[in-house]
Amino acid sequence: MIKVAVTHDVDRAKKTYHYFTKTVKAVFRGSLGASVYQVKSLFTGKNPYWTFDDLLEILNKYQIKSTFFFLNESMKFNPISPGNWALSLGRYNIQSKKIRDEIRRLKSEGHEIGVHGSFNSYKDLNLLKKEKSVLEDILGETIIGIRQHHLNLAENTWELQKKAGFKYDSSWGLNFSIGVEDDKTVPFKPFKDEFLVVPMSIMDAPFVSSEIKWRQFDEMIALVEKNNGVLVLNWHTDSLNDDEFPGYRSDFVKMLQILQSKNAEFFTMTQVYQQFSK
Ligand SMILES: [Zn+2]
Repeated sequence: MIKVAVTHDVDRAKKTYHYFTKTVKAVFRGSLGASVYQVKSLFTGKNPYWTFDDLLEILNKYQIKSTFFFLNESMKFNPISPGNWALSLGRYNIQSKKIRDEIRRLKSEGHEIGVHGSFNSYKDLNLLKKEKSVLEDILGETIIGIRQHHLNLAENTWELQKKAGFKYDSSWGLNFSIGVEDDKTVPFKPFKDEFLVVPMSIMDAPFVSSEIKWRQFDEMIALVEKNNGVLVLNWHTDSLNDDEFPGYRSDFVKMLQILQSKNAEFFTMTQVYQQFSK
C-alpha cells in the first residue's frame, strides 16, 4: 500500500500584478481568448487565486487531511532589481483577518499548518524563528514543520531550522522536474536524531508541463512503494484554478483518483513525522 502526503504551499492568495503580466503574455502569444479572459477577470471582483473552498471540497471528497505551508514574505520591493519583483510583490499579509480566519478554519477541519519559509529564511535563523512564532500566535499551537520557498536549501539550513524549533523539513525536492534528488523517497534523519527530512516528490508546475507525466507518476508510485517511503505531493493553492493555470486542477484531481484506486493511505506531514522519527 502506498503512503501519500498531500501538501500545499500557499505562495499567493490574491491576484495582483499577474493581471498585467498574464495579459501581456497572452497578447504576445497572440491568444485573443486568453487576453480577453485576463482583462475580464480583472473586473469580475472574484479572486481566482483564492481557491480554499474548492480545494477543501476536493479534499473532503477523497477524505484527505492535507498540510498547508503559509508564507510570510518580508523581502522589500526593489524597483531596480527585476529578479526581486515576483518575490516581493503580490504577497499576502499573514496577519490579515482573512488569512488568519482561513488558517484557523483549515486547522479546525483537521488539516495541518506549517511554515513556508520566506525566500531568504533558509540562511537566517532570526527569520525562521520569527515566521514560526507569528504563525503559532495565529494558530494557537506549536508548529513543527517547514518547507522553504523555492526549495532553497544551504548546507546549514536544516541546522538553523532545528535551532528554530522545527522538527521536520520538506524542502528536499526538485523545482523543475518530477522526482526527488538522489531518488530519496524515504524520510531521513540528517543528524541521526529526531529531526526529519521528508522529501517532496512531485510539484505541480513540472508535473503539469511534462509530456510523459502519467508514466512518470506510475514510476514514482512504484519507486515509493518499493522503498516503503512516502509520496509527497505539492500543489500550490494559487494555481488550482484551471482558467488561470490550465491543467493544474484537473491533473490534481486525476492524481487523487488514481491514488484512491490503488488504496493509497493519506497522511498529514505530522503523521509522517510520527511514523518515521522513531
Ligand atoms: Zn513557495
